Amino acid sequence: MRLGEVGEFGLIARLRELAGPPASGEVWAGDDTAVVRAPAGTILFTTDIMVEGVHFDLSLTGPEDLGYKAMAVNVSDVAAMGGTPRRAVAAIGVRPGIEMEWLERLYNGMRECAGEFDAAVVGGDVSRSECLVISVALIGNPAGRLVVLRNGARPGDAICVTGALGASAAGYRLLRAGIKDRPGLVQAHLRPKARVAEAVALRRQLPSAMIDISDGFAADLGHICEESGAGAVVDAAKLPVVSLDGVELDCDPLELALHGGEDYELCFTIAPGRAEAAAHAITEATSTPVAIVGEIVDGAEGMKLIVDGQTKDLEAKGWDHLKS
Ligand SMILES: [Mg+2]
Repeated sequence: MRLGEVGEFGLIARLRELAGPPASGEVWAGDDTAVVRAPAGTILFTTDIMVEGVHFDLSLTGPEDLGYKAMAVNVSDVAAMGGTPRRAVAAIGVRPGIEMEWLERLYNGMRECAGEFDAAVVGGDVSRSECLVISVALIGNPAGRLVVLRNGARPGDAICVTGALGASAAGYRLLRAGIKDRPGLVQAHLRPKARVAEAVALRRQLPSAMIDISDGFAADLGHICEESGAGAVVDAAKLPVVSLDGVELDCDPLELALHGGEDYELCFTIAPGRAEAAAHAITEATSTPVAIVGEIVDGAEGMKLIVDGQTKDLEAKGWDHLKS
C-alpha cells in the first residue's frame, strides 16, 4: 500500500505500532510532544539531516541501511562528546507515492540502530517532499561533567584514532563500481558503527579533546586544532589505513584514510602519559584497536604529515557538501 492511500495519520498510527509501548514513565508518539526521562543537569542534543542526492543515492542503499545510518551518524556525535544516546525523534520528507512497506523498513533500520545502544525513537513527523529527506534529532546523557569538547587539545598531547580509516570511502567507491566482493568495506559505508562503548571506556582516562570522523580524518583533526588553537604532527606510518589489498580500485588508501570521510571513528587527544593506557582500556573493553598517530603541537606550526621521513603540510580538506 502506498503512503498516499494511508495518509499522514495512518502512517503515524503504523509507526506507533512498530515502536511498541513506551518506557516506564514516558510518553512516546501520540501526544503533542514525547515525554522522556532525563538526568538532572545537562543533556547532549544533536541533529543531523540526510538528503537524497546529497547524502545518499537510493540506487546504492536500501531502506534498512539508510534508516540505520541516519540514526548512527547522530549516535556518533553523542559518542564524540563522551556521552550515551537516549531518545530520538525522526522527521521524514517523502514522495506520497512511496510504499508503506519501504517506509516501515526505513523506520526499522532507525530502530535497530537505536536499540543497539539502548536508545529509542520516540516520535517524529512526516511531510510530502520532492526528494527523500530524513532528519533525526537525538538527546544523550553526558558522563556527569565529563563532556569532551573539541577545544581542549594542548601541545604535547597524543593524537589517537579508533578502528580503521578509509573503509567507508572505499566501500562507497566499490558500491558505485558495482564490485561486491568486499562486503566489509561496503558495510562500513552503509552501516557505520558508532563508537559509543569506546567513548564510555575512554572517558575515565580523561581525553583532552574528541571528535567523530565524519568529514575525514584530516578535516576533523583540523576542527580540533582550530578550536584548540593548536597544530598537529601526524605520522602516516602509524595511521590505521584500511587495507585495499586485492581490491580492484584505482585509489590511494592513504588518501582515503586522510580525506575520505564518513568513518565515524573517534579521534581524540590525551596527555601523552595516559595515551597507552587509554588505548588499552578501549581495546580491552570493546576489542576495537586504537592507534596513536601523532602529537599536538603549537598552533603556529599548523598541521603536518610525515610520509617516508619527509614532513609536508596536511591539508584539512574533506567532504563539504555545501561547497561546490
Ligand atoms: Mg561530529
